[in-house]
Amino acid sequence: DTIGDNFDRTALAQPDVDALVEVPTGRRWTYGELRTEVDAVALGLVAAGLEKGDRLGIWAPNVAEWTLVQYATAKIGVVLVNINPAYRTHELEYVLKQAGISVLVAATAFKTSDYAAMIQEVRPNCPDLRQVVLIGTPDWDALVEPGRTGDAAELARRQADLSPDDPINIQYTSGTTGFPKGATLSHHNILNNGYNVGRLCGYGPEDRVCIPVPFYHCFGMVMGNLACTSNGSTMVIPGQGFDPKATLHAVQQERCTSLYGVPTMFIAELNDPTFGDYDLSSLRTGIMAGSPCPVEVMKQVVDRMGMTEVSICYGMTETSPVSTQTRVDDSLERRVATVGRVGPHLEVKVVDPETGLTLPRGEPGELCTRGYSVMLGYWNEPDKTAESIDAARWMHTGDIGIMDDEGYLNITGRIKDMVIRGGENVYPREIEEFLYTHPDILDAQVIGVPDAKYGEELCAWVTLRDGAEELTVEKVREFATGKLAHYKIPRYVMVVDEFPMTVTGKVRKVEMREKSVGLLG
Ligand code: ATP
Ligand code: MG
Repeated sequence: DTIGDNFDRTALAQPDVDALVEVPTGRRWTYGELRTEVDAVALGLVAAGLEKGDRLGIWAPNVAEWTLVQYATAKIGVVLVNINPAYRTHELEYVLKQAGISVLVAATAFKTSDYAAMIQEVRPNCPDLRQVVLIGTPDWDALVEPGRTGDAAELARRQADLSPDDPINIQYTSGTTGFPKGATLSHHNILNNGYNVGRLCGYGPEDRVCIPVPFYHCFGMVMGNLACTSNGSTMVIPGQGFDPKATLHAVQQERCTSLYGVPTMFIAELNDPTFGDYDLSSLRTGIMAGSPCPVEVMKQVVDRMGMTEVSICYGMTETSPVSTQTRVDDSLERRVATVGRVGPHLEVKVVDPETGLTLPRGEPGELCTRGYSVMLGYWNEPDKTAESIDAARWMHTGDIGIMDDEGYLNITGRIKDMVIRGGENVYPREIEEFLYTHPDILDAQVIGVPDAKYGEELCAWVTLRDGAEELTVEKVREFATGKLAHYKIPRYVMVVDEFPMTVTGKVRKVEMREKSVGLLG
């Protein structure tokens, strides 16, 4: 299937089921209505001169138009380029040029960013950019109107001319470890991934999925939107950006059965002072992914949010994204302690990063993924593609993990995050889990900082719970003594209000390292 054909199949089979609900504005579409609107946008894009293979950029927070454009471009084979809502002029210009974007659909503004002004500023430097369509302005109507009277036969012709292996989407990685890279993905890559993720969550037409994670990222547009449309479920948008109260409100109002988030989002929801005011009894499942989830948070998601079938996923943008997932019938223990088993039709192996040889079960090594989900390549970066995907089509993830005898995987860290202190390898994840058990610590992130004697020393950044006492490095070291090996006890502790984050809710450890070095002199 192509994404467009798959979407049509669902829409024709169940035209009256809710497809999309935008809670803050009250706008909603059934599958029948959504298909009509998607077709109008698709024909509008045809009228704007877009051809198969052209790139269209979308730069907006989570609004319904994002989803309309996602399916409209898929129907006519235009490659959708997801642009990070947090970008500023420099990064915007980079993406517009790097992907050769000819039409840009954008919000006028988001939070403190004036998108319209930034677009104007970079436009003269981007010769490929022919047209800019600002959502919520007459531009948008002018784009869609011609489509309403457009030629349906033309749309069918375009749709029939596509192959599932065509590139259809360029997604930039989160930029956690460095500069974001554009992963080029096909219909086959992301449609299958969305479908399988949804299937393993048991999705059907009665499921209503609350998606507070950004559409620009695969978590939102693949595990969210594509999982819903390929399994006939409802997409619920709680707000443009993440807000814990708005998310809880959307779950209550729309009787959502599933809720998504990275661990920091669930932490914010569980700790919101109004948490107890919401009726979350409709929740059955959900997905937590993107970074390691503290065991304690997982337990609370099950006990206090009622997400008894919550699933953990592991993956990366380059693999469409999900590689492993817990199953509904996995024990809670498994679901709190592992990232599940390898997904349908995929392979994962654990190798020695030095020799490339497969390691025995139970030994930590670099994870490699192979199968339908591996991207076509990084857009216009053949060298980087060759560094990550080997001749046998294995994607080398840069993540360290251990697989047990029954195939359950545990992520223990990222090669780039590993700290080598006095010759000992330390995975920050382990220290973070430990610090999390301190009664005053709300969240903890650990990095390595340069040290003359040991090569690297451990530095912990912590945020404190409301009403917690002042926390000193001595107190933390005392708490850890006797519980952690001496070389794993952080040398430095910094109490902060927040961590530097990517928009996907991941902590930018590169930035933490730079800042720590400055602060520690
Ligand atoms: P960049 O590649 O630009 O540095 P990134 O790797 O963070 O950024 P993404 O593709 O969004 O960008 O994230 C994939 C990474 O997220 C994985 O390689 C892994 O390190 C981490 N990750 C994803 N899911 C999990 C999980 N369940 N547990 C632990 N880590 C996870
Ligand atoms: Mg990455």
